[in-house]
Amino acid sequence: MRIVVCLKQIIDPELPATQFRIDAESKRQQSDNHPLVISPYDENALELALKLKEQTGGHVTLLSVGQPSAVSALRKGLAMGADEAALITDPAIEGSDAFGVATALARGIEKLGHADLVLCGCESGDWADRIVGPILAETLHIPCVTFIARLEKHNGGFLAHRVVEDGYELWEVVPPVLLTILSDETNTPRYPKVKDIMAASRKSIPTWSGADLDLDASRIGKAAVRAEVQELTVPTQESRCQLLEGEPEEQVAMLVARLRERKVI
Ligand SMILES: Cc1cc2nc3c(=O)[nH]c(=O)nc-3n(C[C@H](O)[C@H](O)[C@H](O)COP(=O)(O)OP(=O)(O)OC[C@H]3O[C@@H](n4cnc5c(N)ncnc54)[C@H](O)[C@@H]3O)c2cc1C
Repeated sequence: MRIVVCLKQIIDPELPATQFRIDAESKRQQSDNHPLVISPYDENALELALKLKEQTGGHVTLLSVGQPSAVSALRKGLAMGADEAALITDPAIEGSDAFGVATALARGIEKLGHADLVLCGCESGDWADRIVGPILAETLHIPCVTFIARLEKHNGGFLAHRVVEDGYELWEVVPPVLLTILSDETNTPRYPKVKDIMAASRKSIPTWSGADLDLDASRIGKAAVRAEVQELTVPTQESRCQLLEGEPEEQVAMLVARLRERKVI
């Protein structure tokens, strides 16, 4: 079973909001040397892949489209237990929208040869478009099931637990298939051991350019975007403090009245 996990490197989404600054010209978050991490749901996808490999055997490959810095995300994935990794990086791909990213990933997967399972996070931790997975499946001409929390071997294929508002849907899926993964108690990412971090630091990670993948320049990069970000702002939050005067009973009565006014209770 050949499994490809698509990993995106992003600015740590756990940074305090006070450190979130927007570059007015590019309309992107300023990197400001903030720490870079694997997009959280992608770690869940990798954990699911590793558990599957432990249960049924297989080979896990990581693929990322991004800056050269994304090698560190791939090394962490290798330390967690993936077998190999490749990075697609090229200035011509920068500024791509989801179609451009999915096009590059699809060519990367084709270059790898074959994938029975392609796993993506259900959404990235920065833009959260939720569409790279489905577009990638469409580009690869394979089916896609989104928001999968668990996967079990079943009848030569898999039973996929898809999270919906009031429970799970159970889908029988037969490879090749693309699944987008969300977090679940069964796919909490493992911590790599020191010896595995050392081993991962010595592994070679091929980097592929657009030319290596024969990427059509009209489908990637800024010139190919179909959706343009018009404005990006940090929401302003106003908080006011009002002191209620009087005896405790009066203060409580006033507080209850205010909460009722605002329909809090
Ligand atoms: C400088 C810059 C300019 C941009 N300009 C535009 C623009 O003009 N228009 C526009 O629409 N968007 C633009 N973007 C947004 C960017 O291209 C989005 O990242 C893209 O639309 C994909 O959406 P998403 O990251 O929200 O992924 P989602 O669809 O939320 O991602 C789902 C999953 O797909 C996989 N995945 C996503 N991206 C990657 C990746 N790079 N490598 C490996 N796997 C991946 C992961 O498994 C991820 O969990 C720009 C971004 C930058 C940094």
